[in-house]
Amino acid sequence: MSEIDKDSPVTVRFAPSPTGHIHIGNARTALFNWLYAQKKGGAFVLRFDDTDATRSTVEFAEAIEEDLRWLGIDPDSIAWQSRRFDAYDAAAERLKSAGLLYPCYESGEELERRRKLRLARRLPPVYGREALRLTARDKAEFEAQGRRPHWRFRLPNYAEDPFETRRTEIHWDDLVRGPQTVDLASMSDPVLIREDGTYLYTLPSVVDDIEMAVTHIIRGDDHVTNTGAQIALFHALESEAPDFGHHNLLTTSTGEGLSKRSNALSIGSLRSDGYEPMSINSLAVLIGTSQSVSAMPAMGALLEVFRPDMASKSAAKFDPAELTGLNRSLVHQLTFEQVRARLADMGIAGGRAEAFWMAVRNNIDFVKDAARWWRVVEVEPEDEAKLDPEDREFVREAFALLPPDPWDGDTWANWTGAVKAATGRKGRALFMPLRIALTGVRSGPELADLLPLIGRARTMARQP
Ligand code: GLU
Repeated sequence: MSEIDKDSPVTVRFAPSPTGHIHIGNARTALFNWLYAQKKGGAFVLRFDDTDATRSTVEFAEAIEEDLRWLGIDPDSIAWQSRRFDAYDAAAERLKSAGLLYPCYESGEELERRRKLRLARRLPPVYGREALRLTARDKAEFEAQGRRPHWRFRLPNYAEDPFETRRTEIHWDDLVRGPQTVDLASMSDPVLIREDGTYLYTLPSVVDDIEMAVTHIIRGDDHVTNTGAQIALFHALESEAPDFGHHNLLTTSTGEGLSKRSNALSIGSLRSDGYEPMSINSLAVLIGTSQSVSAMPAMGALLEVFRPDMASKSAAKFDPAELTGLNRSLVHQLTFEQVRARLADMGIAGGRAEAFWMAVRNNIDFVKDAARWWRVVEVEPEDEAKLDPEDREFVREAFALLPPDPWDGDTWANWTGAVKAATGRKGRALFMPLRIALTGVRSGPELADLLPLIGRARTMARQP
């Protein structure tokens, strides 16, 4: 972790489990962290929470990194929890020798039975710390039966006697939600290590946050309830807890949570659908906040409006149609320089490419849609709209009036002026048949711009 500057005023981390592709909701978390770090001149750590070896893959991790970079997030450093087990083992040993991490042998059924009993007695359904009463002999017996313990962290919610818990408030001033309070007596001692010896997320996360000098933990509000126990764990490991911020989550339009397993709204699929990274960034950050949602042309513009506390407290519905609207307005502003390479990849290059881009950008939702208009200009009209039979003669007459070369931006006005004078047609009755003959579509870019791009020879070939 030598790349991390521990003197940096702010260090944040984005800590996905590489068990699937990230979606727009994960991008929200990554961006809140990234923008916060940018605002404070701090560092952004990409930390793969890959302790679950059965579900995590290197391929998912690489895809996540690629997606982040495509969005415009370049991590200052990258860490893998699967390479840091020594640090977690050392912390677990420290807690064990301080008596703060204790072995428990209950099965899931036993815990469930006790939970029901407590509820029946109108007691809070939290773990009653029964394992603390086990003698060395009890434990040896369990072990002899082949039972392995899971390990719980003893929350500091009592004075002398751990069986006499008392209200113990933990406070933090949430960057997003403002002052928060949780009572450690209202929760069970969290399990940190499973029976098979694997770690749940809590301990590795806190150990890493300490060792990586994370100053601000910004994440979804589904983690609010974990924060009290995590703060206690920071203290048990003799560290100050960092600051916390919990932003609202995004849901689908029907209100379901987004999942890494549903690929539909993954960053990768939005990218291959042709969305601009900034339209995703704009929506991922601004939706469900006090700011209005609009297309920010670059990360710098987003940075200007971003404040963590702009996020509202309730979940925000993500509407893919809104994303298309943002993309459209971004595409309308893209300069030729910004798209030159991508157009070239589509075969749109050469002397006319820039004029072509400026002619079509206002009529497309996605940069890739330019290919359709390039075909219309270069090859042939679409066959979406057909000329009405009664307009055929009019169009033939109009084509006979096409001016000679050279053609420029005035050609369309001159030509249609002459057609109007000769035929008496005007308005839509004049323009629509010409548009259909030239492009095969009822709407599209300004014909004044398209006509010189199509050029005289190709235009003549389109005479009906
Ligand atoms: N790996 C955890 C998650 O994906 C990280 C939570 C956190 O930021 O602390 O939910």
